[in-house]
Amino acid sequence: MIDLHLHLDGSLPPELFFKLAAMEGVGLPAGDVDGLLPYLTAPRDCKSLNEFLEKFALPVSCLQSEETLFEAARGLAKELGREGLVYAEVRFAPQLHRQKGLTQRQAIQAVIRGLEKGREGTSLKTGLILCCMRGRDNREENLETAAQAAALLGAGVCGLDLAGAEALYPTRDFEELFCKARKENIPFTIHAGEADGPDSIRAALSFGARRIGHGVRVTEDKALLEEVIRKQVTLEMCVTSNLQTKAVREGREHPALWLLRQGAAVTINTDDMTVCKTTISEELKWLRSMGMTREEERKLWENALKGAFLPEEEKEALGREVRLRL
Ligand SMILES: [Zn+2]
Repeated sequence: MIDLHLHLDGSLPPELFFKLAAMEGVGLPAGDVDGLLPYLTAPRDCKSLNEFLEKFALPVSCLQSEETLFEAARGLAKELGREGLVYAEVRFAPQLHRQKGLTQRQAIQAVIRGLEKGREGTSLKTGLILCCMRGRDNREENLETAAQAAALLGAGVCGLDLAGAEALYPTRDFEELFCKARKENIPFTIHAGEADGPDSIRAALSFGARRIGHGVRVTEDKALLEEVIRKQVTLEMCVTSNLQTKAVREGREHPALWLLRQGAAVTINTDDMTVCKTTISEELKWLRSMGMTREEERKLWENALKGAFLPEEEKEALGREVRLRL
């Protein structure tokens, strides 16, 4: 199994918070996992993307030092290895971890070290995607994230992303940032077509995005859908997350399987294992319940392999491993 779209802060094992909060000197609102879960997990009847995003406040407050970022990345990689993933691209936004004076570089390197440590003894491989954040007054921080991605590409970092409130800060406003990423040959994906419509996806493609985070709203525009299929743009789809943020109203309306059958390069991911209370196995189980065949499941992994931000030779080795397990 492969997960290409997985946020560090939204995917931490809940029991890890007791350790992280103690290390960071943060008070927790509850003393046991059951009491803590409502603060970390979005309900299925979550009202909006905003209510969903509130669940990141506590994790981010617990991850403001190299020690806690290391522990968090280590804990997550361990969990992914235990679940049997062979490859995961974990992402986080280094600029959100500077409240106590860390530089973006220090935050990134702590996460890289944690991922390496956590996957020891498992067959998991990992890559790290750095998220820039949608906003109005963080241009410098985003440029710094892109500069760090360029500097650390192939040394733990595998790509760049844009995350945050898509409907408030449209994708087209980030052209300068991705123009720079393209010049530096940094592979990138952009969250698009989740809270905003086809124009957001179109802007991301015009910048040169090889992958789109979510992209569910591609179905609203026939010409765009044809382009996405023709160019085999990887769609990083996250079903449970889309239901919680109301990007899709009901499970049976989710277009993942339909898009796969139309020939789109669909992949299935978790987005946030803890906020969404899901795993890759759970996401697959749901798709099977909707009629996904074994052949279609194989296609998901082929798409994930093709879309992975990895050098070709590493992709081939990973492909052999994935096929062995099918
Ligand atoms: Zn995401």
